[in-house]
Amino acid sequence: MDATVKATPEIVGNYRHLFVNRRAYTLQSPRPRPENGRHYYFRPKAKGTGAELGLTGSTIRRHLQGEITIGLYAINPATQRSKWVAIDADHEGAMEDLLKLRYSLEQDQVEAALEMSRRGGHLWIFMERPALARQCRIYIYNLALKLGVRIKGLGLAEGIEIFPRHDELRTGEFGNAIRGPLRIHRGTGRRYWFYGADYDLEKQIGYLNRLRKLSENQLRSFIAGKTMPPEFERKRRSPGRADHFVSASGREFRILDHVGGVRKVGRNYLTRCPSCAEAGQDRSGDNLGISIDEPWKYKCWAGCTKEMIRRAVGCPIPVRQSA
Ligand SMILES: [Zn+2]
Repeated sequence: MDATVKATPEIVGNYRHLFVNRRAYTLQSPRPRPENGRHYYFRPKAKGTGAELGLTGSTIRRHLQGEITIGLYAINPATQRSKWVAIDADHEGAMEDLLKLRYSLEQDQVEAALEMSRRGGHLWIFMERPALARQCRIYIYNLALKLGVRIKGLGLAEGIEIFPRHDELRTGEFGNAIRGPLRIHRGTGRRYWFYGADYDLEKQIGYLNRLRKLSENQLRSFIAGKTMPPEFERKRRSPGRADHFVSASGREFRILDHVGGVRKVGRNYLTRCPSCAEAGQDRSGDNLGISIDEPWKYKCWAGCTKEMIRRAVGCPIPVRQSA
C-alpha cells in the first residue's frame, strides 16, 4: 500500500528540516551482495564525473516513497552541530532500554520519538536549533550510564549506539550515517513508522513537528559540570597507531596491523571494514577481505577505496602537498 503513497513537497521540506544536517548522504545498494544477500550503503557519485552527489528534495521524496533507502549523517562539519540525537538499539532487551531512556528523558521534559526498526528501535531527540555534537553526546552518554543502559563498544558487542558518534569532524570526514527514518523495507515493503502517530506520512511528520524540541540552554543545564565519561572519550588515534604512522615512511603498511578480529573464509580473511565502520556500516564485520597469501592485498566489498580505508585507520596514504 505504501508503494502508492506520494510524499508531497511539504512533507519532503519538513523531513529535510527535521533530519538533514548536511548534503552528503549514503544510499543503500539496490542489489544485495551475492555472497551473503545483504545490502550495503555507499556515498553515491555522479556518473561520468565521479563527483559526490548531494541530497536533494527528489532524493528524499524517493526515499519516503520507498524507491530508495538513504542514510543521513549526524553532524554538519561546518558547525560541528546536529539537529538530533538518535539512539539505535537492536540488542536483546533493546526496547526495554529505549523505553527506560525515554522515561528518564521525560523527567527532564525532553520528548523523544520512538521509531520502529527491524529489531528494536531508534529513539530520536530533536533540537530546537542544531546543538554541538559534543554536548549532545555528553548528555546522552551520562544518562545511559546513570540508568545502567549498556552502550555498545568498549568490548561490549551488545548495547545502544548513540548518534552523533563523534564530538566533531575533521576536514573531509563524514562521521556515521543512520538509516533515514520512515524508510520502507526493500524486502517486505513495510514502512518503519514512529509509534506516536497514525501510520500516515503527513500525520507522522506532524507528530514530529509538534514534539517539544530541546533548547541549547536546557542541554547546557543538563550537562553542567559533566564531561564525556572517560571510557567513552573517543580517541582520534591511539598512541601506537600514531607512532606507527610517524615511523611508517620506511615501513610497509600492513592492513592486518590495523583491523580487529579476522576470520578465515576460503583464501581470505574477512573483517569489519574500518571505513564502513566509520559510517556505521558493516555491522556483520565482513566487508573487508584480506588475501591470506598476499596480506598487502585488501578490498572492501562495499566499495571503499584504499584512500578511505587508510584514512579510517589513521594511516592516510601520503599525498604530495602542492606548493
Ligand atoms: Zn568499506
